[in-house]
Parts: sequence; structure tokens; C-alpha cells
Amino acid sequence: MRVYLDNAATTKMSSTAMEAMLPYMDTVYGNPSSLHSAGQAAAEALITARRRIADCIGASPKEITFTSGGSEADNQAILSAARAGEKKGRKHIISTAFEHHAVLHTLQKLEKEGFEITLLDVHENGIVLPQQVADAVRDDTCLVSVMYANNEIGTIQPIEAIGKICREKGVLFHTDAVQAAGHLSINVEEQNIDMLSLSAHKFHGPKGIGILYARAGVPLAPLIEGGAQEWGRRAGTENIPAIVGMAAALEEACTHREDNAKRLCSLRDKLIAGLWQIPHAILNGDAAKRLPGNVSFCFEGIEGESLLLLLDDKGICASSGSACTSGSLDPSHVLLAIGRVHDIAHGSLRLTLSEENTEEQIAYTVEAVKEAVAYLRSFSPVWHDLVSGRKEFVIK
Ligand SMILES: *Cc1c(COP(=O)(O)O)cnc(C)c1O
Repeated sequence: MRVYLDNAATTKMSSTAMEAMLPYMDTVYGNPSSLHSAGQAAAEALITARRRIADCIGASPKEITFTSGGSEADNQAILSAARAGEKKGRKHIISTAFEHHAVLHTLQKLEKEGFEITLLDVHENGIVLPQQVADAVRDDTCLVSVMYANNEIGTIQPIEAIGKICREKGVLFHTDAVQAAGHLSINVEEQNIDMLSLSAHKFHGPKGIGILYARAGVPLAPLIEGGAQEWGRRAGTENIPAIVGMAAALEEACTHREDNAKRLCSLRDKLIAGLWQIPHAILNGDAAKRLPGNVSFCFEGIEGESLLLLLDDKGICASSGSACTSGSLDPSHVLLAIGRVHDIAHGSLRLTLSEENTEEQIAYTVEAVKEAVAYLRSFSPVWHDLVSGRKEFVIK
């Protein structure tokens, strides 16, 4: 059996998105900046896609800037707020310890330039409280950036309440909603959001395309210079096929969001219940306030990387954390942020579902993980020390 359970890393493109893209790689290939009819056909597609995307998140089309994906949108949101803040002498930014590296690394860069960064602690259940934000805001704060849902442990943050606090205090609020899109409702008006990042390949759209929403009046500093595209906010000929594919994918995801979420939650909870039967295992993040398709566990006495390889042999594509941390030996900053100690954080497994997964696949995966964990423990010196009482279990 082949089971793809790494949808937080990327998703399969939907046939709707693919079919929507085809004409723009074939007959409609003009440059939207050209004045002739071939260019104008492309320009029309750009206008339509922008409007469809804006409608999905409660924005107006002019507030949507197309980027190369979530990382670029995060970079541009933060750097834009920093440049605007700097001019007013406001050089303090608030974020959280478990953001995506596209946020954290941008903040580190600003810190070297003299910005002060406050990274809020995350509670053990993987959630940041609005009160923490309220307590951290200062007169010189220019930006609060808190993700909508975490990409490793799937926990959902109270962004509407955080946005309200920011609005009251006159501070810009950015949210990385890359994992939320298609799974949670997004409305930039109701949720008091000033800037928001999305990435198409996380909701069955093409890779290499995303958006940065910025409320009218929020000045965006371009990361790429060289042309008047996107009202000067991002130079370069627009990737029309990808933009059209993203619009189709987002619309499809939003239309079926509630039905899909119901089905995914049911599969997710079966998977969680199954894995909870493994002794000395712990679920990462709140059991209820998490993305419909996210399951994240730590198993004591094993290495997450070895578990992944065993599962791959059984046809299961999983992850130990985020795709960005695999390949490095450091444990996930997200798991450390929720208080997992290094040894435990190393024994992590993330399984993220999509609409294509079936009950059968879930049952198969539960058995496969159980077997693989037992097998790895059978020759793990750490596990041996634990069961013989030489070492104490961290996960009871
Ligand atoms: C995937 C992801 C990103 C990066 O998006 P890309 O389009 O791959 O650059 C940013 N933030 C979160 C939360 C993500 O999951």
C-alpha cells in the first residue's frame, strides 16, 4: 500500500487546478504587460484570478500581491512592516518561538540591524494566548506576527483576538496562514488581519506561487525591483499559469472546506487513537484545537529519522517534523518551544492527511507505526536503559 501522509510539506495538485492552468501554458501565453491582444488575454486572466483569490479571504483585489510562495510572502510582510516602523522610530517586533523559519530567520536578520525581537513562549499545548501579546506590546512595537496554524504540530492560534489587540494598540498584525488555507476559515476583515501569507502548494495548487495580502494603506516594500508589476510591490513577469492554478485550487478548497474538515477530523482522530495505544507516546499539541489533518507524536526511546525510513519501506510517506528541519540533526524548534526535551523531540513523527486518504490507509498506518516503533525499541540502548530502570521515562 502507498500512503502519502506528508501534506503539510506539500500536496498533490488537484485536477481542477491542473486543467485550469493548461490553456495558459498553451494558447494564452502572452505577457500581461503587453498592449496587444495576446497580452491582454493574459492580463484578463490575472485580474480574474486576483479577484477570485480576494473573494476567498474577504479582501479586495488590490490588496493581493502575488509572490513566489509562503516564504517570500512572510519575508516581505515582515521587512515591509520593519521599514515602515523604522521611519517612525519603532523598532520592536513581537512573534512566537514556533513560527516557520521564513519568519524566524527574517526576524534574526532584523535583530542584527538593531531591531528588538520578542519571541513569545508557547504553552505546552502549542497555543499562544492573546494576553501574552497584550502584555508584550510597547510604544515602539511596529509589528506582531503570529501564525494561524503551526506546520509541525497543527495547533490553531487565536488570531482574531490577537488581531483585535493589535488594532486597539495601533500595531500591524501579520499572520502566516499557509497551513490554515483550505482547512480553517479565513476572513481578513472579521479576523482583524493586516497582512497574511498563503502558499498554493499547501492547498493542492502549484508550487512556487503564493500571495501576500496587505490591507489597503499598509505600505509594502518590494523585495524584487525592476518593473511596475503588482503596482511596484514585486517586479517580474507574472507566473500566469501558476496564478490561475492557485485561484482554482483555493476556490475549490474553500468551497469544500467544511465537508473536507469533517472527514479529515474523523480520520485524524482515528489515527491519534491508534497511536495513543503505543506505550510511552505523547501527542504534540492540543488534541482539539489542531488542524483537521495534523497528527504529531513523540515516542520515547527511538530516533524519528529511523522511524521514517522504516515507514517509507512500508510505503508510507511521513515526516519527523517540518521538511525544512529534516536533513539537520538539530531537534525541531517547535517541539523544543512546547517544552519537549531534546531526547524526546528526536523521537517525533508527523503525519498530515489530505482528502485522498482512506480509512483503510489509516488502519494500515497505525499497524505499521506500532510495528516499527516496537522494532526500533527492541535494539535501542536508550529503551533498554528505560525498561531496566537505569533511566527514568520522560513520557509516562
Ligand atoms: C510551507 C510553509 C511556508 C513556506 O511556503 P513556501 O511556499 O514553501 O515558501 C511558510 N509557512 C508555513 C507555516 C508553511 O507551512
